[in-house]
Amino acid sequence: MNQYDVTVIGSGPGGYVAAIRCAQLGLKTAIIEKYPTLGGTCLNVGCIPSKALLDSSEHYHNAHTAFADHGIGLENLTVDMNRMIDRKAGVVKANVDGISYLMKKNKIDVITGVGSFIDKNHISIVPREGGEAQQIETKNVIIATGSKPTVLPFIAQDKERIITSTEALNIREVPKHMIVIGGGVIGLEMASVYARLGAKVSVVEFMDSIIPTMDRGLGKELKRVLGKIGIEFFFSHKVTGATRDGDNVTVTATNAKGEEVKFEGDYCLVAVGRVPYTAGLNLEAAGVQMEERGRIKVDEHLQTNVPGIYAIGDVIRGAMLAHKAEEEGVFVAETIVGQKPHINYLLIPGVVYTWPEVAGVGYTEEQLKEQGKAYKVGSFPFKASGRARASGDTDGFVKVLADKTTDEILGVHMIGPRIADLIAEAVTAMEFRASAEDVARMSHSHPTYAEAMKEACLAATENRAIHM
Ligand code: FAD
Repeated sequence: MNQYDVTVIGSGPGGYVAAIRCAQLGLKTAIIEKYPTLGGTCLNVGCIPSKALLDSSEHYHNAHTAFADHGIGLENLTVDMNRMIDRKAGVVKANVDGISYLMKKNKIDVITGVGSFIDKNHISIVPREGGEAQQIETKNVIIATGSKPTVLPFIAQDKERIITSTEALNIREVPKHMIVIGGGVIGLEMASVYARLGAKVSVVEFMDSIIPTMDRGLGKELKRVLGKIGIEFFFSHKVTGATRDGDNVTVTATNAKGEEVKFEGDYCLVAVGRVPYTAGLNLEAAGVQMEERGRIKVDEHLQTNVPGIYAIGDVIRGAMLAHKAEEEGVFVAETIVGQKPHINYLLIPGVVYTWPEVAGVGYTEEQLKEQGKAYKVGSFPFKASGRARASGDTDGFVKVLADKTTDEILGVHMIGPRIADLIAEAVTAMEFRASAEDVARMSHSHPTYAEAMKEACLAATENRAIHM
């Protein structure tokens, strides 16, 4: 029987990063993945394929709309969905092959099959299609089995017309009318893809705003801008059912007045969140305890109630984000060898890859109000940015929240061009506990979108923005 210092179950961004860090630290490491390709949700059916389609659809949309403004004429513009989806598959393949290469490079044993506990130090691995099981012995286990889409019990998903994000990444035609249940990150990203390609898109949301967990100002601005590409929003609507008849779907909901509303379309995307995935792990055999909402219970070291068994990523509490899972992977590997790593969860940024992109880090204005914290706000709109005017991306703003007395940055919330990259500056500043004035005094290259961060910090300092 093969013996390991660490066995990682699940090869998503939490699992594969944990395995690499374990190997770097000299631990004999195995990683178990039930699917034939590595990379988990993120690389196979999440972050990477969705961004490939977002980029493709953005090119098409720009060619249709913005190019003329730039003086570029195009005729007979067409969308070849087969080619777009095949390209996306190629992008996924390049990424998952890259993870296989990294496993080899770091001498990590990859075992394909469903991993389940025999006891706390023994794992059995059975091929997904059935067949002979193998067993390994391990000193430590890192559970990184991720999550799966939330199912609404009153909606039968046939995965052809009533679908989850996984199928939405593989539609080989432009829908006529896609009804998206849920105005969260995944719903809005997929809504953007298909609206840009010419589909009518209706987003039906239970709450009274989109991206409700982010700073309220962001959701308001995003709704306005997505409205410009034709996405319609139906807030305070409680979906009560969705049915399919041939190629048509009907979604029923109750609106705020208690009236029944019907939406007729050809696709219904159910995007109401994700739930932790632990099926098949046989956690009882190792004595691992769960907590509410199907999550594995961990302590501040991300260790379960069983010494030597850790859990990371979507399967535990906290934001369901790839970069959060990655940080936790590194954290656990370093904890196992006796180091004292640290994760600042407040500074895990949240990002939405619509266009304009949206991102936030630290406290929202609503949270600061709730805490009774004295704060000041500095804001800078992209319509005042030379770089944004040059590219034609003038929607959105950067908002910096700083402590009223000390000027320390407490939160940064952005919507605009290339914000998903720009938020890194806010994270760096906040990790070093910068004041708004610290950032305001740093040179930012001109012309860049990043200047909006400097200007917002100037605005937060003493209302000293230069270009506003
Ligand atoms: P996962 O990536 O879910 O990986 C878990 C792996 O464990 C899977 O491969 C699964 O097959 C395997 N597994 C499960 N059980 C077993 C078992 N018993 N034995 C063996 N293997 C097992 N996050 C971002 O940060 N940025 C984004 O842009 C982004 N976009 C997204 C877009 C979509 C459409 C979706 C669905 C998600 C997106 N996410 C994004 C979220 C991100 O994908 C997850 O937060 C991330 O993948 C979680 O990583 P993980 O390692 O915890 O689990």
